[in-house]
Amino acid sequence: DELISQIAAGEVVERPASVVRELVDNALDAGAQNITLRLLGGGTRLIAVEDDGGGIAPDELPVALKRHATSKIGNLTDLESVMTMGFRGEALAAINSVSELTLLSRMDGQPNALALDGQTGEVRPAPRAVGTTVEVKELFFSTPARRKFLKSDSTELAHCIEAVRRHALARPDVSFAIWHEGKLVEQWRVHPGPEGLAQRLGDVLGHDFVAQSVPVDYHAGPLHVVGRAGTPDAARSRPDHQFAYVNGRFVRDKVLMHGARSAYEDVLHGHKQPAYALFVQIDPTLVDANVHPTKIEVRFRDSRAVHQAIRHAIEQAIAAPRS
Ligand code: ADP
Ligand code: MG
Repeated sequence: DELISQIAAGEVVERPASVVRELVDNALDAGAQNITLRLLGGGTRLIAVEDDGGGIAPDELPVALKRHATSKIGNLTDLESVMTMGFRGEALAAINSVSELTLLSRMDGQPNALALDGQTGEVRPAPRAVGTTVEVKELFFSTPARRKFLKSDSTELAHCIEAVRRHALARPDVSFAIWHEGKLVEQWRVHPGPEGLAQRLGDVLGHDFVAQSVPVDYHAGPLHVVGRAGTPDAARSRPDHQFAYVNGRFVRDKVLMHGARSAYEDVLHGHKQPAYALFVQIDPTLVDANVHPTKIEVRFRDSRAVHQAIRHAIEQAIAAPRS
Protein backbone atom coordinates (compact mmCIF):
# COMPACT_ATOMS: atom_id res chain seq x y z
CA ASP A 1 0.00 0.00 0.00
CA GLU A 2 2.94 2.28 0.78
CA LEU A 3 4.30 1.67 -2.72
CA ILE A 4 0.93 2.23 -4.39
CA SER A 5 0.64 5.49 -2.45
CA GLN A 6 4.08 6.58 -3.57
CA ILE A 7 3.22 5.81 -7.19
CA ALA A 8 -0.06 7.70 -6.90
CA ALA A 9 1.91 10.52 -5.29
CA GLY A 10 3.88 10.83 -8.51
CA GLU A 11 0.72 11.90 -10.29
CA VAL A 12 -0.47 14.34 -7.65
CA VAL A 13 2.77 15.63 -6.13
CA GLU A 14 5.39 16.85 -8.50
CA ARG A 15 6.93 19.58 -6.36
CA PRO A 16 6.16 21.74 -3.29
CA ALA A 17 3.68 23.83 -5.29
CA SER A 18 1.54 20.71 -5.92
CA VAL A 19 1.33 20.17 -2.16
CA VAL A 20 0.41 23.81 -1.68
CA ARG A 21 -2.35 23.53 -4.27
CA GLU A 22 -3.90 20.46 -2.64
CA LEU A 23 -3.69 21.81 0.90
CA VAL A 24 -5.21 25.16 -0.06
CA ASP A 25 -7.97 23.29 -1.95
CA ASN A 26 -8.75 21.43 1.27
CA ALA A 27 -8.74 24.59 3.37
CA LEU A 28 -11.19 26.23 0.95
CA ASP A 29 -13.41 23.13 0.92
CA ALA A 30 -13.48 23.37 4.73
CA GLY A 31 -14.89 26.90 4.46
CA ALA A 32 -11.77 28.78 5.60
CA GLN A 33 -11.88 32.60 5.64
CA ASN A 34 -8.18 32.98 6.39
CA ILE A 35 -5.40 30.80 5.02
CA THR A 36 -1.78 31.18 6.08
CA LEU A 37 1.17 29.40 4.52
CA ARG A 38 4.53 29.04 6.19
CA LEU A 39 7.34 27.78 4.03
CA LEU A 40 10.97 26.89 4.59
CA GLY A 41 13.44 26.21 1.82
CA GLY A 42 10.98 27.07 -0.94
CA GLY A 43 8.61 24.47 0.53
CA THR A 44 11.08 21.59 0.31
CA ARG A 45 11.81 21.65 4.06
CA LEU A 46 8.43 22.79 5.33
CA ILE A 47 4.99 23.60 3.99
CA ALA A 48 2.50 24.45 6.72
CA VAL A 49 -1.00 25.47 5.72
CA GLU A 50 -3.13 26.88 8.50
CA ASP A 51 -6.87 27.51 8.12
CA ASP A 52 -9.85 28.62 10.18
CA GLY A 53 -12.28 26.24 8.46
CA GLY A 54 -14.57 23.68 10.05
CA GLY A 55 -11.86 21.27 11.17
CA ILE A 56 -11.82 17.47 11.13
CA ALA A 57 -13.80 15.34 13.58
CA PRO A 58 -11.57 13.31 15.96
CA ASP A 59 -12.72 9.96 14.52
CA GLU A 60 -12.19 11.21 10.93
CA LEU A 61 -8.61 12.26 11.57
CA PRO A 62 -6.85 8.92 10.84
CA VAL A 63 -9.25 8.27 7.94
CA ALA A 64 -8.22 11.52 6.21
CA LEU A 65 -4.77 10.03 5.47
CA LYS A 66 -6.13 6.84 3.89
CA ARG A 67 -6.19 6.47 0.15
CA HIS A 68 -9.54 7.23 -1.46
CA ALA A 69 -10.84 8.55 1.81
CA THR A 70 -12.93 11.58 1.04
CA SER A 71 -15.70 13.11 3.04
CA LYS A 72 -16.90 14.95 -0.05
CA ILE A 73 -18.39 12.32 -2.35
CA GLY A 74 -21.13 10.03 -1.16
CA ASN A 75 -21.90 8.16 -4.38
CA LEU A 76 -21.47 8.19 -8.16
CA THR A 77 -24.23 10.72 -8.69
CA ASP A 78 -22.30 13.13 -6.47
CA LEU A 79 -19.28 12.67 -8.74
CA GLU A 80 -21.36 14.06 -11.61
CA SER A 81 -22.17 17.23 -9.75
CA VAL A 82 -19.06 17.81 -7.66
CA MET A 83 -18.63 21.42 -6.56
CA THR A 84 -15.83 21.01 -4.01
CA MET A 85 -12.19 21.45 -5.05
CA GLY A 86 -11.26 17.97 -3.87
CA PHE A 87 -13.20 14.78 -4.36
CA ARG A 88 -10.74 12.02 -5.15
CA GLY A 89 -9.51 11.56 -1.60
CA GLU A 90 -5.94 10.88 -2.59
CA ALA A 91 -4.03 14.08 -1.91
CA LEU A 92 -3.29 13.69 1.79
CA ALA A 93 -2.46 9.98 1.45
CA ALA A 94 -0.14 10.73 -1.46
CA ILE A 95 1.60 13.62 0.31
CA ASN A 96 1.93 11.57 3.50
CA SER A 97 3.73 8.82 1.58
CA VAL A 98 6.47 11.18 0.38
CA SER A 99 6.98 13.47 3.38
CA GLU A 100 6.73 13.76 7.15
CA LEU A 101 3.17 14.92 7.56
CA THR A 102 1.37 16.13 10.66
CA LEU A 103 -2.34 16.85 10.73
CA LEU A 104 -3.51 19.16 13.50
CA SER A 105 -7.20 19.92 13.69
CA ARG A 106 -9.97 21.10 15.98
CA MET A 107 -13.66 21.10 15.29
CA ASP A 108 -16.13 23.48 16.82
CA GLY A 109 -17.30 22.07 20.16
CA GLN A 110 -14.09 20.11 20.82
CA PRO A 111 -12.19 20.95 24.02
CA ASN A 112 -8.82 20.86 22.25
CA ALA A 113 -7.17 20.08 18.95
CA LEU A 114 -5.70 16.69 18.06
CA ALA A 115 -2.39 16.18 16.31
CA LEU A 116 -1.92 13.12 14.14
CA ASP A 117 1.58 11.99 13.21
CA GLY A 118 1.26 10.71 9.65
CA GLN A 119 4.18 8.28 9.99
CA THR A 120 3.41 6.61 13.31
CA GLY A 121 -0.35 7.16 13.35
CA GLU A 122 0.01 8.46 16.90
CA VAL A 123 -2.65 10.97 18.04
CA ARG A 124 -2.17 13.41 20.91
CA PRO A 125 -4.02 16.48 22.21
CA ALA A 126 -2.57 19.83 21.21
CA PRO A 127 -3.47 23.49 21.58
CA ARG A 128 -5.12 25.15 18.58
CA ALA A 129 -8.17 27.27 17.74
CA VAL A 130 -10.92 25.76 15.54
CA GLY A 131 -9.52 24.88 12.11
CA THR A 132 -6.77 22.79 10.62
CA THR A 133 -3.03 22.95 10.15
CA VAL A 134 -1.29 20.53 7.83
CA GLU A 135 2.48 20.42 8.16
CA VAL A 136 4.52 18.77 5.44
CA LYS A 137 8.21 18.40 6.21
CA GLU A 138 11.07 17.12 4.08
CA LEU A 139 9.17 16.49 0.86
CA PHE A 140 10.58 13.51 -1.08
CA PHE A 141 13.04 12.65 1.75
CA SER A 142 12.37 8.95 1.11
CA THR A 143 12.43 9.25 -2.70
CA PRO A 144 15.80 10.85 -3.50
CA ALA A 145 15.28 10.27 -7.24
CA ARG A 146 12.31 12.65 -7.09
CA ARG A 147 14.02 15.09 -4.77
CA LYS A 148 16.78 15.47 -7.36
CA PHE A 149 14.33 17.04 -9.81
CA LEU A 150 13.54 19.93 -7.52
CA LYS A 151 14.92 23.28 -8.61
CA SER A 152 16.45 25.98 -6.42
CA ASP A 153 14.54 27.14 -3.33
CA SER A 154 13.71 30.44 -5.00
CA THR A 155 12.25 28.69 -8.05
CA GLU A 156 10.19 26.31 -5.90
CA LEU A 157 9.02 29.28 -3.80
CA ALA A 158 7.92 31.12 -6.95
CA HIS A 159 5.85 28.08 -7.98
CA CYS A 160 4.30 27.89 -4.51
CA ILE A 161 3.35 31.57 -4.66
CA GLU A 162 1.88 31.04 -8.14
CA ALA A 163 -0.25 28.16 -6.80
CA VAL A 164 -1.69 30.41 -4.07
CA ARG A 165 -2.12 33.26 -6.53
CA ARG A 166 -4.40 31.05 -8.64
CA HIS A 167 -6.57 30.33 -5.62
CA ALA A 168 -6.51 33.95 -4.46
CA LEU A 169 -7.87 35.22 -7.79
CA ALA A 170 -10.85 32.86 -7.59
CA ARG A 171 -11.60 33.57 -3.93
CA PRO A 172 -11.62 37.31 -3.22
CA ASP A 173 -13.77 36.45 -0.18
CA VAL A 174 -10.85 34.65 1.53
CA SER A 175 -7.66 36.24 2.81
CA PHE A 176 -4.28 34.67 2.16
CA ALA A 177 -0.82 35.17 3.64
CA ILE A 178 2.45 33.54 2.61
CA TRP A 179 5.49 33.48 4.87
CA HIS A 180 8.89 32.24 3.73
CA GLU A 181 11.79 31.75 6.15
CA GLY A 182 9.92 33.85 8.71
CA LYS A 183 9.25 36.76 6.35
CA LEU A 184 5.85 37.79 5.02
CA VAL A 185 6.20 37.56 1.21
CA GLU A 186 2.59 37.99 0.04
CA GLN A 187 -0.64 39.00 1.68
CA TRP A 188 -4.01 39.40 0.00
CA ARG A 189 -6.82 40.70 2.16
CA VAL A 190 -10.55 40.71 1.55
CA HIS A 191 -12.08 43.93 0.21
CA PRO A 192 -15.74 43.87 1.14
CA GLY A 193 -18.28 45.24 -1.31
CA PRO A 194 -19.15 44.91 -4.99
CA GLU A 195 -15.63 45.77 -6.20
CA GLY A 196 -14.07 42.93 -4.22
CA LEU A 197 -13.10 40.89 -7.28
CA ALA A 198 -11.59 43.82 -9.19
CA GLN A 199 -9.65 44.82 -6.09
CA ARG A 200 -8.35 41.30 -5.56
CA LEU A 201 -7.33 41.11 -9.23
CA GLY A 202 -5.47 44.38 -8.75
CA ASP A 203 -3.76 43.20 -5.56
CA VAL A 204 -2.66 39.92 -7.12
CA LEU A 205 -2.00 40.81 -10.78
CA GLY A 206 -1.10 44.47 -10.36
CA HIS A 207 -3.29 47.53 -10.70
CA ASP A 208 -2.23 47.98 -14.33
CA PHE A 209 -4.08 44.79 -15.15
CA VAL A 210 -7.32 46.29 -13.83
CA ALA A 211 -6.73 49.68 -15.45
CA GLN A 212 -6.06 48.02 -18.82
CA SER A 213 -8.94 45.56 -18.79
CA VAL A 214 -12.73 45.66 -18.99
CA PRO A 215 -15.33 43.73 -17.02
CA VAL A 216 -16.80 40.56 -18.54
CA ASP A 217 -20.29 39.43 -17.61
CA TYR A 218 -21.97 37.14 -20.08
CA HIS A 219 -24.73 34.55 -19.93
CA ALA A 220 -25.32 31.79 -22.49
CA GLY A 221 -27.69 29.03 -21.47
CA PRO A 222 -26.16 27.00 -18.61
CA LEU A 223 -23.01 29.10 -18.80
CA HIS A 224 -22.05 32.29 -17.01
CA VAL A 225 -18.73 34.01 -17.68
CA VAL A 226 -17.45 36.79 -15.43
CA GLY A 227 -14.06 38.39 -14.87
CA ARG A 228 -11.93 40.85 -16.80
CA ALA A 229 -10.46 40.87 -20.29
CA GLY A 230 -7.42 42.96 -21.21
CA THR A 231 -7.86 45.62 -23.84
CA PRO A 232 -6.08 44.76 -27.11
CA ASP A 233 -3.63 47.66 -26.79
CA ALA A 234 -2.50 46.31 -23.42
CA ALA A 235 -1.58 42.87 -24.81
CA ARG A 236 1.84 41.64 -23.75
CA SER A 237 4.63 39.61 -25.22
CA ARG A 238 4.15 36.81 -22.68
CA PRO A 239 0.97 34.90 -21.75
CA ASP A 240 1.66 35.38 -18.02
CA HIS A 241 -1.66 37.07 -17.32
CA GLN A 242 -4.03 34.42 -18.67
CA PHE A 243 -6.17 32.84 -16.00
CA ALA A 244 -9.20 30.66 -16.65
CA TYR A 245 -11.40 28.96 -14.08
CA VAL A 246 -14.25 26.49 -14.31
CA ASN A 247 -16.56 26.43 -11.30
CA GLY A 248 -13.86 28.02 -9.17
CA ARG A 249 -11.11 25.63 -10.25
CA PHE A 250 -8.06 26.93 -12.13
CA VAL A 251 -7.72 25.11 -15.46
CA ARG A 252 -5.38 25.08 -18.44
CA ASP A 253 -7.86 24.26 -21.11
CA LYS A 254 -7.43 24.45 -24.86
CA VAL A 255 -11.09 25.22 -25.50
CA LEU A 256 -11.08 28.20 -23.14
CA MET A 257 -7.67 29.48 -24.24
CA HIS A 258 -8.50 29.17 -27.90
CA GLY A 259 -11.92 30.74 -27.38
CA ALA A 260 -10.31 33.71 -25.66
CA ARG A 261 -7.63 34.02 -28.31
CA SER A 262 -10.21 34.00 -31.09
CA ALA A 263 -12.01 36.99 -29.56
CA TYR A 264 -8.88 39.03 -30.21
CA GLU A 265 -8.31 37.64 -33.70
CA ASP A 266 -9.07 40.83 -35.59
CA VAL A 267 -7.64 43.29 -33.08
CA LEU A 268 -4.34 41.68 -32.05
CA HIS A 269 -1.51 41.39 -34.48
CA GLY A 270 1.71 39.41 -34.32
CA HIS A 271 2.46 37.31 -31.29
CA LYS A 272 0.96 39.59 -28.65
CA GLN A 273 -0.81 37.78 -25.81
CA PRO A 274 -4.05 39.12 -24.37
CA ALA A 275 -4.42 39.33 -20.58
CA TYR A 276 -7.52 37.92 -18.95
CA ALA A 277 -8.98 36.42 -15.80
CA LEU A 278 -12.16 34.55 -16.66
CA PHE A 279 -14.40 32.64 -14.30
CA VAL A 280 -16.76 30.23 -16.01
CA GLN A 281 -19.72 28.95 -14.03
CA ILE A 282 -21.33 25.97 -15.68
CA ASP A 283 -23.80 23.30 -14.63
CA PRO A 284 -21.38 20.72 -13.13
CA THR A 285 -23.07 17.87 -14.99
CA LEU A 286 -21.89 19.48 -18.27
CA VAL A 287 -18.22 19.27 -17.39
CA ASP A 288 -15.98 16.41 -16.28
CA ALA A 289 -13.27 17.55 -13.86
CA ASN A 290 -12.16 14.01 -13.09
CA VAL A 291 -9.88 13.73 -16.13
CA HIS A 292 -6.55 14.05 -14.35
CA PRO A 293 -5.41 13.73 -10.70
CA THR A 294 -4.42 17.39 -10.56
CA LYS A 295 -7.82 18.38 -11.98
CA ILE A 296 -6.13 21.02 -14.13
CA GLU A 297 -7.77 19.57 -17.24
CA VAL A 298 -11.50 19.40 -17.80
CA ARG A 299 -13.72 17.97 -20.48
CA PHE A 300 -16.81 19.85 -21.56
CA ARG A 301 -19.81 17.98 -22.83
CA ASP A 302 -20.37 20.68 -25.46
CA SER A 303 -16.99 22.28 -26.07
CA ARG A 304 -18.22 24.21 -29.12
CA ALA A 305 -20.79 26.04 -27.02
CA VAL A 306 -18.17 26.84 -24.39
CA HIS A 307 -15.71 28.07 -27.02
CA GLN A 308 -18.35 30.33 -28.51
CA ALA A 309 -19.49 31.66 -25.17
CA ILE A 310 -15.93 32.64 -24.19
CA ARG A 311 -15.39 34.28 -27.53
CA HIS A 312 -18.64 36.24 -27.38
CA ALA A 313 -18.15 37.18 -23.75
CA ILE A 314 -14.80 38.82 -24.51
CA GLU A 315 -15.83 40.33 -27.85
CA GLN A 316 -18.79 41.99 -26.20
CA ALA A 317 -16.66 43.26 -23.31
CA ILE A 318 -13.84 44.75 -25.38
CA ALA A 319 -16.26 46.28 -27.92
CA ALA A 320 -18.25 48.09 -25.22
CA PRO A 321 -17.38 51.75 -24.70
CA ARG A 322 -15.04 52.07 -21.72
CA SER A 323 -16.57 53.55 -18.61
P1 ADP B 1 -10.33 15.18 -0.95
O1 ADP B 1 -10.06 16.63 -0.79
O2 ADP B 1 -10.32 14.74 -2.38
O3 ADP B 1 -11.55 14.73 -0.19
P2 ADP B 1 -7.84 14.84 0.50
O4 ADP B 1 -6.88 13.71 0.54
O5 ADP B 1 -7.36 16.13 -0.03
O6 ADP B 1 -9.12 14.35 -0.30
O7 ADP B 1 -8.42 15.05 1.97
C1 ADP B 1 -8.99 13.95 2.65
C2 ADP B 1 -10.05 14.39 3.62
O8 ADP B 1 -9.46 15.04 4.76
C3 ADP B 1 -11.06 15.40 3.08
O9 ADP B 1 -12.14 14.76 2.41
C4 ADP B 1 -11.51 16.12 4.35
O10 ADP B 1 -12.55 15.38 4.98
C5 ADP B 1 -10.29 16.07 5.25
N1 ADP B 1 -9.53 17.33 5.24
C6 ADP B 1 -8.34 17.53 4.63
N2 ADP B 1 -7.88 18.79 4.83
C7 ADP B 1 -8.82 19.42 5.57
C8 ADP B 1 -8.94 20.76 6.12
N3 ADP B 1 -8.00 21.70 5.91
N4 ADP B 1 -10.06 21.03 6.85
C9 ADP B 1 -11.01 20.09 7.05
N5 ADP B 1 -10.95 18.82 6.57
C10 ADP B 1 -9.87 18.49 5.84
MG1 MG C 1 -8.28 17.59 -1.29
